[in-house]
Amino acid sequence: MEFRDLKKQYQVLKTKIDAGIADVLASARFISGPQVKELEQRLADYVGVKHCITCANGTDAITLGLMAWNIGEGDAIFVPDFTFFSSGECPAYEGATPIYVDVERESFNMDPDKLEAAIRKLLAEGKYVPKAVISVDLFGRPADYSRIRAICDKYGLYLMEDAAQGFGGSIDGHMACSFGDISTTSFFPAKPLGCYGDGGAIFTDNDEWAALIRSLTVHGKNGNDKYDNIRIGMNSRLDTLQAAILLPKLDAFEKYEVADVNAVAAKYNRLLENSCLELPIIPEGVVSSWAQYTVILPEGVDRVALQTKMKEAGIPTMVYYAKPMHLQGAFSGTDSAAADCPVTEYLCGHVLSLPIHPYMEGSDIELVCRKLLEYINV
Ligand SMILES: *Cc1c(COP(=O)(O)O)cnc(C)c1O
Repeated sequence: MEFRDLKKQYQVLKTKIDAGIADVLASARFISGPQVKELEQRLADYVGVKHCITCANGTDAITLGLMAWNIGEGDAIFVPDFTFFSSGECPAYEGATPIYVDVERESFNMDPDKLEAAIRKLLAEGKYVPKAVISVDLFGRPADYSRIRAICDKYGLYLMEDAAQGFGGSIDGHMACSFGDISTTSFFPAKPLGCYGDGGAIFTDNDEWAALIRSLTVHGKNGNDKYDNIRIGMNSRLDTLQAAILLPKLDAFEKYEVADVNAVAAKYNRLLENSCLELPIIPEGVVSSWAQYTVILPEGVDRVALQTKMKEAGIPTMVYYAKPMHLQGAFSGTDSAAADCPVTEYLCGHVLSLPIHPYMEGSDIELVCRKLLEYINV
């Protein structure tokens, strides 16, 4: 059994993906070919925002957004403590100080009450200027944007939605990647919408930031002239090959993959309800894109031993994430390390992610649940 079965997806979409790759090879327009523009338009339409700018990966997407806001030394950026490293790495890379905020046990996402408390504490201390919130849609579930947006407005902070895991999710029909002033995603192969290498995208309704980010992705070019460089930028573009691979994958994603992966999650929920596990909760009106199906194990379960037994039964499992951001070695000795995040610390010790993808067979879901409950109860 695969944790996320990309081979199976390729078998289903092979004819279209192979044809798309062949077109790019024949045209030899490997950089900024017409497929890139087409994809950007399709992604912007799908999300319902004015601008989509593709780039080299989801980490660059966050960095490019922060560059557009001129984030740097002395600025504080609020980031959930329970996330992939990039969410906090990018503000630190720009010289700013990530301030880690604890998450809610029920949603795995940034706790709005704790966000507001962290902002007030920072303002009282006066050492840094609060500038932005990077909110993460962890495991595919969009964060609580009505509350986070209200807090950002109250304190005059920019809101960035890191939807690397959230693309395809929604709240009351509003799509993930539309909730931030700038939103970002990743097309890393195992993300909800993945390409066959690295890729990413930035979304915004703001014309000025869109133009600025477009320039920053190509060495700070002046308009369309990449040899007239008016600012310090990066080289961060999505390859034409990856755009050609993503176009048919986006078709499948829209037509059935998001629905199918939700059916897999629903079956997990049914088979695991009334067990000793805490299951992921998706509120009414919210759609998850199920980047992960993550359960919380009860006290006293030896997670390492459990994973070993599952592996012996042919079932891969993963721990996302084993270490809170504020305890990562890269932040030791900095003000980012001084976070108070007991929920994150608890989750890091107790979460377990199970195999999930749109092509997962019902019999495999049943096997995972049977083995998991059997091994937990011994
Ligand atoms: C994967 C991920 C990223 C980074 O995306 P890459 O394309 O791997 O650079 C950023 N944030 C979160 C929450 C992620 O899961």
